[in-house]
Amino acid sequence: MSDVRVLKAAKLIDGTGQVIEQPRVVIKDKQIESVSSADGTAVPSEAEIIDVGDCTIMPGLIDTHVHLGALNCTSFGTARIARFEITPQLQSFYALFHSQICFEMGFTTMRDAGRGTPRGDFAEEMCAVRDAINNGIIAGPRLLILAECVITGAHLEILTMPRAMQRPEGMTADGPWELRKKVRELLRSGADGIKTSVTGGVSLGTDPSVRNMTPEELHAIVDEAHAFNKPVAVHCFTSEGLHMCVDAGVDTIEHMVYSDDESINRVSEAGIWVVPTLLNRIDYAIDQNALQGMPPLLIETQRAMKPHCFETFRRMKAAGVRIAMGTDIHNVPEMGCAARELEIYVDEGMTPMESILTATRDAAEAIGLGGTVGTVEAGKLADIIAVRGDPLDDVRLLQEADNIGMVMKEGSVYVDRLADSPRTVRHPEPGSWRMIDRE
Ligand SMILES: [Zn+2]
Repeated sequence: MSDVRVLKAAKLIDGTGQVIEQPRVVIKDKQIESVSSADGTAVPSEAEIIDVGDCTIMPGLIDTHVHLGALNCTSFGTARIARFEITPQLQSFYALFHSQICFEMGFTTMRDAGRGTPRGDFAEEMCAVRDAINNGIIAGPRLLILAECVITGAHLEILTMPRAMQRPEGMTADGPWELRKKVRELLRSGADGIKTSVTGGVSLGTDPSVRNMTPEELHAIVDEAHAFNKPVAVHCFTSEGLHMCVDAGVDTIEHMVYSDDESINRVSEAGIWVVPTLLNRIDYAIDQNALQGMPPLLIETQRAMKPHCFETFRRMKAAGVRIAMGTDIHNVPEMGCAARELEIYVDEGMTPMESILTATRDAAEAIGLGGTVGTVEAGKLADIIAVRGDPLDDVRLLQEADNIGMVMKEGSVYVDRLADSPRTVRHPEPGSWRMIDRE
């Protein structure tokens, strides 16, 4: 016997750019069967009715660049020390906790962009979190896990592993064949894709302008991942890096920092998705970094870089570059605040509708899930949220937990703040968990 439900609301932002007043969404098992307005097709008489009243419904939100396995200011006051105090085993429980915080804020799909630990990659731990959710033993968002594959001394290596630290064997790889092997190992361990860096970033002893691998090495990573039908996401801060990404045929370019018109036009023509991560460039995020122990030199680098990031965003948008929402939330600013990224896009010139598309249809396409999620259309999985008010009037509504009235993933309601007895998925309330280094 099939399970048919009809979702009623005041308005639907369907994720394709359309708005439907008084929508009726028929959901059968995990999938959307039909979408119509109130006077459209008749609803099945045996269906259960889910009426979210005055709320606006829209596709579950998608963050294409997040670090759920990051050490967090909610668990440890100083992120730099936490690297050596918290084992990867413990941290994987925090990764689950972080994913649930985001889930409750309406993010039904998230792509994790990886991290290193003093014990090595964190990919297997993140795959375990993903699989625990997929297997239905723990509630959380749909996760895609990127595993890091970088050269010796790359920004992504230095970022999470201080220079004096002893490296586990095989942590990094150099030259096309070593890198190909590393890609194969990471994909064998269950990763959904590869994350690498072609340029430096904000980490001690490196500089955003340095090259982090040769074109030949990047080509090897991309060719090998594509041979397994897996995508490659590339951290890139420079114009030189953008050219390398286009030449190698990468799938997504992460961050918008330094650029020139020639490289931007090439990215636009190639149709490669770019993930802005501007939430990590605002003063609030930089201040949080300072509070959590980021060295003053790097705080200065961040402040100097900031205006270039916003300028590149505006120029990329004007050049027609395909933009998919991603935040780079890690230990800063804090888990659950990803929707602030959309407010930044609007401040920088997008309409609220355009910003919402970056986190729905466009984000889904960028991470290879365009056929299954990202819009509320017949045939898609029923990942739908109900929002108090209309985000097209004020996209900041999505930032407040109280406004995220319902979160449905694959047809099941996991979060219901509209009910008389509100229901959420995670056990602790904000502030009720223990700060490991402060008690
Ligand atoms: Zn990142």
